[in-house]
Amino acid sequence: MGEKIIRGEDIKKELLGLLPEEIFSTLLEETCLEETLRPFYGDNIFRWLHLQLEKDPMEFSDIPKNIRDFLLRKFSIFQFNRAQFFLSKDGSEKVRLTCLDGNEIETVYLPYRGRRSVCVSSQVGCKWRCSFCYTGKMGFKRNLTAAEIVEQVYLFVRKYGPITHVVYMGMGEPLDNYEQVLRSIKLLNHPKGQNIGMRRITISTVGIIPSIERLLSEQIQVNLAISLHNPIPEERECQVPAEKIYPLKKLLPLLRRYYRITHRQITFEYVVLPGINDANRHVRSLVKILYGLDCKVNLIPYNMVGMSSKERKRHKSACTHFMSKLRQLGLNKVTIRSSRGLDISGACGQLGLVPIASN
Ligand code: SAH
Repeated sequence: MGEKIIRGEDIKKELLGLLPEEIFSTLLEETCLEETLRPFYGDNIFRWLHLQLEKDPMEFSDIPKNIRDFLLRKFSIFQFNRAQFFLSKDGSEKVRLTCLDGNEIETVYLPYRGRRSVCVSSQVGCKWRCSFCYTGKMGFKRNLTAAEIVEQVYLFVRKYGPITHVVYMGMGEPLDNYEQVLRSIKLLNHPKGQNIGMRRITISTVGIIPSIERLLSEQIQVNLAISLHNPIPEERECQVPAEKIYPLKKLLPLLRRYYRITHRQITFEYVVLPGINDANRHVRSLVKILYGLDCKVNLIPYNMVGMSSKERKRHKSACTHFMSKLRQLGLNKVTIRSSRGLDISGACGQLGLVPIASN
């Protein structure tokens, strides 16, 4: 009997990571309550967790007491031990979360006009070590679970109300954590939960080819943002080491196929690094490789923790200059990403657990 308790208790499942049918089948398999179980319990428990965002199973008022007890015993309900919030002057907010195993991650809330977006992390750290990214410096620690990913969104739903957009642009490479990222998308998109439209969800990736092929085969209608950063392969290798394994030579034809099949416009992200990737040869090469592909180019001013405002201005104007050169050669859908949350180290590439002075 003692042995049974150890087996059952030490591996607690994450209730928040299960779809309604999985909640029900778990109840069927793991309780001896077949006679009292009703199929709608799966749906109701899912609604409590993903729509009402209730964390305490004892509050699931339409679920019998013995099942609530079972949920409490068997599942971990909390995903994080600690949440520290940092509010920016521009209205964005970053939260630093301590996972149950002590690892720390960060998530950013970005209100902008009618949109309320959350930028989620998909891994603790990242293995790719892009030359300019702060997260890459910490190396890869582990994948986040679907429950840990959706809870990042729910923290802000509790605070600000429904979230309109979710971007997988926080810490980590989402397409290196395919299963859990996909599961989290299905949970966020579920009509009995937050029901966030697939088309309002964006995955940003260095271009993990097998995962993009998988997305295509599963007909998931999410938006893809590709971290391009340099159109010339021998140079891109230095900024984005993933180029050595998933080269543009193979990635670009796949993205063209992705567009033909899904008709989803692809975004190419491009951190403008003055003197490194903003010369005329980059402009020409970019125009050439994207020729005929319906896509957007999103230029990102380089962000560095502790950068002076003079430096920021220099990087911003490098973006403006690069944008006008691209437009001259006929690339029209070019935008500059406004960096938000700079004062709380919450902007692109700054998520990596830097000490925070303010707040
Ligand atoms: N691993 C994913 C998500 C990264 S974060 C990916 O590579 O796409 C989202 C974007 O911010 C990426 O395009 C990333 O390259 C960019 N980024 C990283 N560090 C940056 C920095 N220091 N300044 C500006 N953008 C940066």
